[in-house]
Amino acid sequence: MNEELLSRLPKTDLHVHLEGSITPKTLLRIADKQNRDVPAEIFNHETMQFNYNTEQGFFHIYPLVGKFIQDSRSLEMVTTAFLEQQSEQNIQYSEVIYTAEQGNLDFDLDQQLAAIKSGRKKGMEEFGSTFNLVVDVGRQIPIDQVNEVLEWVIKRRDIGENRFLVGFGIGGMENQGLPQKYAKCFRTVKNNGLLSLPHAGEQLGPKIIWDTLHLLQPDRIGHGIRCVEDPKLLEELNNRQIPIDVCPLSNLVLGYYPSLEAHPIQKMLNQDLNISLGSDDPGIMNFTFTEQFLRLSDELKIPDSKLVELLRNGIRNSGLSSDNKLEMFSEVDRILNAWN
Ligand SMILES: [Zn+2]
Repeated sequence: MNEELLSRLPKTDLHVHLEGSITPKTLLRIADKQNRDVPAEIFNHETMQFNYNTEQGFFHIYPLVGKFIQDSRSLEMVTTAFLEQQSEQNIQYSEVIYTAEQGNLDFDLDQQLAAIKSGRKKGMEEFGSTFNLVVDVGRQIPIDQVNEVLEWVIKRRDIGENRFLVGFGIGGMENQGLPQKYAKCFRTVKNNGLLSLPHAGEQLGPKIIWDTLHLLQPDRIGHGIRCVEDPKLLEELNNRQIPIDVCPLSNLVLGYYPSLEAHPIQKMLNQDLNISLGSDDPGIMNFTFTEQFLRLSDELKIPDSKLVELLRNGIRNSGLSSDNKLEMFSEVDRILNAWN
């Protein structure tokens, strides 16, 4: 796809982690304000990139980067910087995953939420792009704490126009918490009108996706890429058009696939699954949503019609109101008509 056309089209990013959106520039600014050095364990000061080259390395530095945003000012800065990054790419709406872990911080969840809201307000005023929040917990967390975080989300969520906390998810290493552990919790998620947004099928095979479908009533599945290993599952996902957030470059960075050619996205597109793209951890992984999109276009030669379909799915599969979706769809149509 032509880069100029891509930049004009309004986009959504439905799978992006706030902590993972931190770029080297933002991390260094925060460390400077905190009067701290960024240790070489996290960051290579020569290459100016985050310091990991394996999946283990990534999951090791991720929480260490998170330690730089445990005060209101830093969390607010990251949030505003995120909206600047999205806005530069004309990503008008994102669903941002924020991993909330209670009990190990002086910085409580209410303060965290206030900082994110204030960073969002600044970013929206200055840059125009916006987002809603998906609170997520790591799978290593005991279920009692997961339930505490969920209760807090339910208490704090606004309804209607001011809806900001839109969903609840689980992430991290899939073998540390199987869907069975969360069945009851996600019934509560659904009963309270929140989107059910679990990660599944990024690391483990088709069974975790089947169990997620049966037990967690997902509104979207995070990654879901290993569905291609089971023809019955592909059929099920196609029949029910379950939305899947696919983040191909993240999967490459973590070493799950050696190249885009080897990545399941081609097969998922050929099976007419309902997929949209997410950037996952663009700052720490050192790429952008736009770069990911253009690489799919250039390296896999996916036709523009399919690429536009991915963008439309990103609007359709979001938690935006139907009015907002219609507005974005008509902007897409207007830009495409003017381009052709
Ligand atoms: Zn993710």
